[in-house]
Amino acid sequence: MIYLDHAATTPLRPEAREAMAPFHGERFGNPSGAHAVARRAKNAVEAAREEAAELIGADHPLDVVFTSGATEADNLAVLGAALAKGRRGGIVTTAVEHEAVLEAAAFAGGLGCPVDVVGVDGRGVVDPAAVAAAAGPGTAVVSVMAANNETGARQPVAKVAHAVRAHAPQALVHCDAVQAFVSEDVSVAGLDADLVALSAHKLGGPQGTGLLFVRSGVELEPVLHGGGQELGRRSGTHNVAGIVGMVAAMRATVAERAGFRQRVAEARRRFEARITAAAPDAAFTLDPPDRVVQHSHLRIPGLRADTMLILLDGAGVAASAGSACSSGAVETSHVLAAMGMPASAAAECLRFTFGWDHRPEDGDAAGEAVAAVIGRLR
Ligand code: PLP
Repeated sequence: MIYLDHAATTPLRPEAREAMAPFHGERFGNPSGAHAVARRAKNAVEAAREEAAELIGADHPLDVVFTSGATEADNLAVLGAALAKGRRGGIVTTAVEHEAVLEAAAFAGGLGCPVDVVGVDGRGVVDPAAVAAAAGPGTAVVSVMAANNETGARQPVAKVAHAVRAHAPQALVHCDAVQAFVSEDVSVAGLDADLVALSAHKLGGPQGTGLLFVRSGVELEPVLHGGGQELGRRSGTHNVAGIVGMVAAMRATVAERAGFRQRVAEARRRFEARITAAAPDAAFTLDPPDRVVQHSHLRIPGLRADTMLILLDGAGVAASAGSACSSGAVETSHVLAAMGMPASAAAECLRFTFGWDHRPEDGDAAGEAVAAVIGRLR
């Protein structure tokens, strides 16, 4: 299988697998307990917290809240900020966010929080001034992603934060940095964000683990209520193995990022060259500088994406059409619609995403396999 769906999930990095193994065995403790078995687990969680904070440039380990993934982290950021201190604060976000943000915002809207969804241009990019203009004195949180999960479009998050702080200084800035972390030098200072969500399984860590950076002093209404773990910000027994595995994967990602960018840029270049040779009318949604290096989002005019995916699967290529939804169905993409793409064109769009285990020559093999499928259909 040629796996080109790293934006959906990634194979586990060996560093993560190794780091997790003891916690699936003899180090099984619940960190909240009061005995040596518990303490060993707690020490592992706190060491992971310290390292995670360092890797994202947070000032303090306690700025890191461990969650069950980025869906929970985004919900905690958006709902937690909007509902903090018993308020119904406003939410400003963009039309191309992940459902974890958009649906959390819609839920908050149903509870009485004013919600503003700002549009994007044809490249899927928001205008910082338009986001700032949508924020007012009642805005609790502004949520803008770092890189889009479908197209790979990079957003000017720091510029948005700067504009928002000038216009609505009380508003918190949240950034879903899930798809950016593997290839971009993500830091809380670089994003200038108060809240940042990450997901382990998009960067070679295990599924079902993530984190939310919460700048010191920021108060959030918890989404999960219970035993008061994570200083009351996120109740629930820690996923110790998951946390340790995520941080091992983050460490490896940060250490190898520069090499990753080079290898994956070359793999993608070769991949796209083969496709262009087979289908000169192939339309790449974004130019290289506008997207993160691991994304190749394109349209082959006249070939439906759902048909292509079935044939690609048969040819041993795992790709996707936009975002994976729970049913596995391909729905019209809200991201492409927001970019002004007609539904008929959006139905022809495919997403290929590279990752940590790819070498430049994988781009040749993958490109040839896709070219062969195009050849069969044409
Ligand atoms: N945000 C973005 C941009 C994503 O791509 C994803 C995963 O699809 C999520 C949030 C949700 O992450 P998780 O699978 O950890 O809940």
